Amino acid sequence: MKAIVLERKGEISIRDIAIEETLGPRDVRIAVRNVGICGSDVHYVQHGFIGPFVVREPMVLGHEASGVIVEVGAEVASLQVGDRVCMEPGIPDPTSKASRLGMYNLDPAVRFWATPPIHGVLRTSVVHPADYTYKLPESVSLPEAAMIEPLAVGMHAANKAHIVPGDVAVVIGAGTIGMMTTLTALAGGCSQVILSDLIQPKLDLAATFGPVTPVNVAEHDLADAVRDVTGGWGADIVFEASGSEQAAAGVF
Ligand SMILES: [Zn+2]
Repeated sequence: MKAIVLERKGEISIRDIAIEETLGPRDVRIAVRNVGICGSDVHYVQHGFIGPFVVREPMVLGHEASGVIVEVGAEVASLQVGDRVCMEPGIPDPTSKASRLGMYNLDPAVRFWATPPIHGVLRTSVVHPADYTYKLPESVSLPEAAMIEPLAVGMHAANKAHIVPGDVAVVIGAGTIGMMTTLTALAGGCSQVILSDLIQPKLDLAATFGPVTPVNVAEHDLADAVRDVTGGWGADIVFEASGSEQAAAGVF
């Protein structure tokens, strides 16, 4: 099938690749329609590894995906051909300790798309367990659905922060994760999000989400902006989504 393949560090091609996939009784086959480009995809292209995960042979990139079901396994009752879906990018061992504790995302044996040696889904189709495939409501488009994986990161952060209605949050970094965290912080009850970045077009976009105060830290001091918005009191919650030690140090 056609795929976007990371051949080796710094070299990507669009080509046919043979991927053996058999449809098990609890699997579905999905025609992939939209795939987000994650920071991890970019990192593999630029560096060839993330921690212990090293690209040693050609790997298909991409793990933030949506698509349409084209085939269902014999035991799948929850999904049917034609359903629009999004997929979890990791397939855990359901019998592992982490899975049985309800933290299946932390299963050390998880097989995560576009993490060597597991192929990602920047390709025409994929076979995936029905249990980790979710039917979309009509109101969610396929491109939007490809953002559900990073949205889940923001959701998790918002849940962990125990937002109380009216809280003021700071989100450092207006990349995809910072944007999704901003949206979930507002949905979770924050009255105001102060969002910082160096790239103005991202801040301009985020300012359309609702009560968001964008702060371009190339020109303004974030701590000053926080004092302004909160009458000198400070923010209730800080989300770090930039990955920059320097950025984080400016607020804590
Ligand atoms: Zn991702």
